[in-house]
Amino acid sequence: EVKTHGKNGYQFFDPAFYGAIRQRQQRERELQAAIDENQFVLHYQVRVCATTQRVVSLEALVRWNHPTAGLLYPDEFIPLAEETGMIVALGERVVDCVCAQIAAWSDDGCAPVPVSINVSSRQFNERDIHALFTRALARHGIPPDRVEVELTESTMIRDPERTSSHLHAMHALGIRLLVDDFGTGYSSLSMLQQLDFDMLKVDKSFTRRLGTDCQGEVLFAAIITMAHALGMKVVAEGVERPEQVEVLRRLHCDELQGYYIATPLDAKDVQAEIRRRRAAIV
Ligand code: C2E
Ligand code: MG
Ligand code: MG
Ligand code: MG
Repeated sequence: EVKTHGKNGYQFFDPAFYGAIRQRQQRERELQAAIDENQFVLHYQVRVCATTQRVVSLEALVRWNHPTAGLLYPDEFIPLAEETGMIVALGERVVDCVCAQIAAWSDDGCAPVPVSINVSSRQFNERDIHALFTRALARHGIPPDRVEVELTESTMIRDPERTSSHLHAMHALGIRLLVDDFGTGYSSLSMLQQLDFDMLKVDKSFTRRLGTDCQGEVLFAAIITMAHALGMKVVAEGVERPEQVEVLRRLHCDELQGYYIATPLDAKDVQAEIRRRRAAIV
């Protein structure tokens, strides 16, 4: 905020504003260091089959192990990474780290569960994302069907031509494509079908309404019918209560994800969760 001061027309910066700029510059430097020194850790949240409750996939969720502030969540650094373009380098770290983890799990004899990776729009626009995935898979010796990519509707809208050519190339390789936060953006049905999506991840704002709100259930049922008609599966995000599981099963929702099923876990704990669910008779 620029203030005009008094009779001489002097201008000066509000110290609070100046402080905010310095703080942001500081955060930018720290984020660059985090990328250089790879201070990121990945947590994994299970996605389960709605009927058997077995794990069908894991979503990789990035955290920043900040040297002084402790563990930071995406909301605290992904927006800055996107604004500055650092998301491109950060995203490369994430893809490499996921592939390394899949290889390590495989060496340990763990069950081959696919991992889903979040990708934001700038990663599509500024790098050859399809080449990035191909290289990382090859470097770690991972088959493409062990990896899934999640992108939001706004990513597709921003540059449909470019996005669709990358998506087709990735899908042709065998990488599954998922629409994240479905229902919060503006994608058209024809676009979803043309872009070879395998699954809609219905946003948690829709899941929240289930079990209490009839309109919410009608809406969810319509999304599921539409997705199935277009050959896509559906996962409900943000499942927090047992009544929601009941409703979603009745509506033939394919898969479930959310705190009620399991919170995001570190690489070791998520394998224990997978084993526990394999052993359970549901
Ligand atoms: P998202 O992809 O929609 O991921 C789901 C978010 O919802 C995660 O938050 C997860 O911890 C949280 N969640 C899971 N179950 C529940 C539930 O039952 N209730 C509620 N209220 N929340 C639940 P998180 O880990 O804080 O990630 C936030 C967002 O940050 C992600 O949303 C994704 O858009 C972004 N993100 C995470 N990792 C990456 C990454 O590696 N790259 C990029 N570009 N974005 C990432
Ligand atoms: Mg996601
Ligand atoms: Mg989501
Ligand atoms: Mg999201």
